[in-house]
Amino acid sequence: MSGTFVGMPAFPVAAREAVHDATLRGNLRHATHTIRAKRARAVGELSDWARLREAGRRIKDHTLRHLDRYLVQLEESVTAAGGTVHWAADAAEANRIVTALVKATGESEVVKVKSMATQEIGLNEALEAEGVRAYETDLAELIVQLGKDRPSHILVPAIHRNRGEIRDVFVREMGAWGRPAPEGLTDAPAELAEAARLHLREKFLRAKVGVCGANFMVAETGTLVVVESEGNGRMCLTLPETLIAVAGIEKVVPSWRDLEVFLQTLPRSSTAERMNPYTSTWTGTADEDGPRAFHLVLLDNGRTDALADRVGRQALRCIRCSACLNVCPVYERAGGHAYGSVYPGPIGAVLSPQLRGTASEIDASLPYASSLCGACYEVCPVAIDIPEVLVHLRERVAQGGPAVREGNRVVLRPARGHAAERAAMRAAGWVFARPRALRAGQRLASRTRRLHPRTLPGPGRAWSGARDLPAVPVEPFRDWWQRTRGGKDGGR
Ligand code: SF4
Repeated sequence: MSGTFVGMPAFPVAAREAVHDATLRGNLRHATHTIRAKRARAVGELSDWARLREAGRRIKDHTLRHLDRYLVQLEESVTAAGGTVHWAADAAEANRIVTALVKATGESEVVKVKSMATQEIGLNEALEAEGVRAYETDLAELIVQLGKDRPSHILVPAIHRNRGEIRDVFVREMGAWGRPAPEGLTDAPAELAEAARLHLREKFLRAKVGVCGANFMVAETGTLVVVESEGNGRMCLTLPETLIAVAGIEKVVPSWRDLEVFLQTLPRSSTAERMNPYTSTWTGTADEDGPRAFHLVLLDNGRTDALADRVGRQALRCIRCSACLNVCPVYERAGGHAYGSVYPGPIGAVLSPQLRGTASEIDASLPYASSLCGACYEVCPVAIDIPEVLVHLRERVAQGGPAVREGNRVVLRPARGHAAERAAMRAAGWVFARPRALRAGQRLASRTRRLHPRTLPGPGRAWSGARDLPAVPVEPFRDWWQRTRGGKDGGR
């Protein structure tokens, strides 16, 4: 398995394989059910949860509406505190900036804090291509990296692995990356954690460059915030001489007062804790302590396109808590890899097609990777109406296909694979507009109902392959109404 998601098949194809993997389904079911129950208890402790959720939604909406102002304020604050801000329009530019910054230090290795943004842009691979090795230091990311695997969950990237599999990865791979796994390592959690700690410690002490993301960036002081559970992030943020942060532009919040809301909702929604164990905040550089050089790379990579979409922009409120993944019946069965993105689950299904467009098969299929049950919306601490965005994106895929630039204008290409759906909708519209034709069709369907196939032919097979076709009644409803109500309202 490769480390990137490039060239993934459409969701239904990728998910089919995962659904038949009994071990994967067992791992996912156990993990998601455990986290979801704990989250419900942690959230239930707060009598003002609904108000906190609404406050989070408003703060994010306000910030997104005035993003230009807050980003400039953030840049000024970071610069005044001794940091340097870089602007990256896309993944390639962000990778170029980070690679150049690392090479300017003369170093050939970096330690990394868990960061979705750097996964999104494929930073590790870009650094590798330039002879720089990146070491993941978050335990789950370490498991993914050593196993040459891909993350499958926002918070617990190795959720698809059980303890026995993790032990095997450690024993097999650790030696090639540094300190080998201890002799006789078992799958006891404490032993696995100790093996990772020993393996990582020498990297922390040696590293001169650290790379991180940010959960939040406070515009008024230029402060970056990383919340984590293991303490590895704190090591990466304080020990290296140079610190490079890569963060999406939507991570900015105006003030510390705003931050306070999210520091309450994020831990309870993600790890079901009242307060996360490590909250690291730092502002620029200081002579006495921490990195001597600090760089912040502000990443767009499709975010301003999402911001321009009236319905879709709410996805930018996301604080990456992963609560929506843990309650999603589709994620629980298909797993994270099927989404073909570092952003799996319900949020991935609305974020990836907006950040990357819907030109590829996988991105065009993601808005359909949902039953629209609404559980994701119920648990989201910033009230993102994911079902609403999913339906909106389905409309975009079905009606427009990918947007492509032709000369000076952007045109919508017809969507592949949806011609049959559009033809069926046109036919239905024609029939519903003609009551006589509708009645004749219903009677014909009732009379021939024993001859109807159990599955639809042609492109309709994909629809009926996962559903039971509804049985056609012996008698159409209108005829039944007329017969039993004596024609009083039967003509309507
Ligand atoms: S969409 Fe909401 S529930 Fe899902 S990860 Fe983002 S903030 Fe959490």
